[in-house]
Amino acid sequence: MKKIIITPLCILLALLGVASASAQSAPKNPYYSRTNQTKLKVSNQEWKKILSSDLYAVAREGATERAFTGKYNEFDAKGTYYCAVCGNKLFRSDAKFASTCGWPSFFEADRKGSVIYKEDKSYNMVRTEVLCGRCNSHLGHVFDDGPEPTGKRYCMNSICLDFEADKNFSQKNFNK
Ligand SMILES: [Zn+2]
Repeated sequence: MKKIIITPLCILLALLGVASASAQSAPKNPYYSRTNQTKLKVSNQEWKKILSSDLYAVAREGATERAFTGKYNEFDAKGTYYCAVCGNKLFRSDAKFASTCGWPSFFEADRKGSVIYKEDKSYNMVRTEVLCGRCNSHLGHVFDDGPEPTGKRYCMNSICLDFEADKNFSQKNFNK
C-alpha cells in the first residue's frame, strides 16, 4: 500500500524539479527593471512563482549562501551590481574590496536609498540587515569593520546580485 502512495509523490516531485529548473534558465520577471526606481509591493506568494528556489530562500526568507561558494566572492571585474530580484542598482565594482569573510564585500552602496537597513536580532546577535531599497529583498548584512573611506563592510550574498560588466572593459583586463 505504501508503495502506491510513494510512487506518484516521487513523480510529482520530479516534475516540480523539472519545472523549477526550467524557470531558472528562462525567468519571467515582470518586476525586473534597471531604470524604474518605483518601490515594489509584491507578496512573497507572488515572488515564489517568479524567482528560482535558491534566490527565493535567500532574498525572501533571509537564508545565507555558504561562505566561499558565491559566484562574486572572488571576482573583481569592473561593472555594476544590480538586485537579482528587481534590477535595482546596488553597488559599483569600485566599492568592492577583497575581504576574507567568504562573501562579496563592498564599502558603500551605489546611492542613498539603493539599500535600506533593518535591525536583525536573529541567532543571538545584533546585526544590521541590508535590504534592497526597491523590492525589500534580503541582500546580506553590513558591519563596521570595512576599509576606508567608509569603514563599512557590506557583506552580500552573490545570488542576490546581478552583475553587468562595463561596456568598454576588455576581456584581457577581465581575467586579471
Ligand atoms: Zn530589489
